[in-house]
Amino acid sequence: MEEMREKLFYNRKNGYDLIDTRERIVLEDYCREYMDYLNRARTEREAVDLAIELAEEAGFTEFKPGMELRPGTKLYRCNRGKALMLAVMGEKCLCEGAVIAGAHVDAPRLDLKQVPLYESDELAFFKTHYYGGIKKYQWVTVPLELHGVVALKSGELVNVVIGREPEDPQFVITDLLPHLAKDQVTKTLSEGITGEGLNILIGSVPYADDGKDRVKLAVMSILYDSYGISEEDFLSAELTAVPAFEVREIGLDRSLIGGYGHDDRVCAFAELKAMLDIEGVPSKTCVCILADKEEIGSEGVTGMQSGAFECFMEDICEQTGASLRRCFENSFCISADVCNAFDPNFPEVSEKRNEAFINYGMGICKFTGHRGKSGSSDASAEVVAHLRRIFADNKVVWQMCSLGKVDQGGGGTIAKFMANRNIDTIDAGVPVLSMHAPFEVVSKFDCYMTYKGVLAAYNEKY
Ligand code: MN
Ligand code: MN
Repeated sequence: MEEMREKLFYNRKNGYDLIDTRERIVLEDYCREYMDYLNRARTEREAVDLAIELAEEAGFTEFKPGMELRPGTKLYRCNRGKALMLAVMGEKCLCEGAVIAGAHVDAPRLDLKQVPLYESDELAFFKTHYYGGIKKYQWVTVPLELHGVVALKSGELVNVVIGREPEDPQFVITDLLPHLAKDQVTKTLSEGITGEGLNILIGSVPYADDGKDRVKLAVMSILYDSYGISEEDFLSAELTAVPAFEVREIGLDRSLIGGYGHDDRVCAFAELKAMLDIEGVPSKTCVCILADKEEIGSEGVTGMQSGAFECFMEDICEQTGASLRRCFENSFCISADVCNAFDPNFPEVSEKRNEAFINYGMGICKFTGHRGKSGSSDASAEVVAHLRRIFADNKVVWQMCSLGKVDQGGGGTIAKFMANRNIDTIDAGVPVLSMHAPFEVVSKFDCYMTYKGVLAAYNEKY
């Protein structure tokens, strides 16, 4: 009986029952590196800068048109400081296709408006416009840091990071005290805190002078002294407030990682690290994408719908005498993005047979989308089988998953934009608890298996 069950049933197992002590040590080492990356990469720009730093240490050089490309050449191209493409040239011609992994490095956050600074009742605030899908009530009364750039008319770029260092001040959005929240608590979660109400407290001491807006003036003078900027310079700035939490181990057994921006830096780091760890010269050219703007639909010049990807791929195809069309047609892409982890606190939204579980490994989504798979690229059975074989050969622990009950909601990734390019694409990544919250949780086991899964696809002898 048992034998028959083992043979005929799809049995998912807890990943910790499937690895030995030696692999647990490798897993811990990997997660330490990831935690350090996540702590230092609070925005897409910082995630890209740090990735370039790590890639250069590993022998990658910036791609320049005309540069000689041979099997084993490691190169990268940065797209406007916010997205990155890396490649390790393979033995085979690019006309036989590339192995691509694509993740995104943008994450939900609070962007400052272009005229952000104001004073109200002798307190100074920044106005914000949230970026990506957030539950607004989660973003009040949590410590915030300020990151970004101010582009001056002169062309100079001023980098701003306030709140990361222990001696730095931090920021916060206030909430109503329960004593006076009689009306607020009867509102729905989406109405209790409004988008326009997400105003960040940034100062309270008036400038020593007469006149109005003295606190605003005092704040502006601090910014001028530190960064040489005036209020008008905000017009051409990209400043963003992100949660200031340190990335920490979670649980008595330290098996989980809590932090801001796991979605999707956890997959971005997995594929980046896999790219750096490719053994020798890969059989097909391996490509790693760190994309921007996924959280707002992959739009814009740095999003995955941008021609920047074709531009890079066409350059390396042309350089090696391959056709871009043939390359795409024969390529395989892992859209490495996080999925929902089943949460026992909210079982009502999940259909357990088809949901990802913590510690069950890399989550593969054949399709995403919503209401009848709308908006999904829906990977073909053949593509799923291809991945099953690679993972089985390399002892990658993985699970098939989908996003909640039918008609409960839904979501998308960069997958469809890759598939639209005539590239076979499948979604695969790390299951997350509290996705899009200021402090998200993932399991170390799943982080490590996602790295191992992408590395197996890169190292495969095609
Ligand atoms: Mn994502
Ligand atoms: Mn997301």
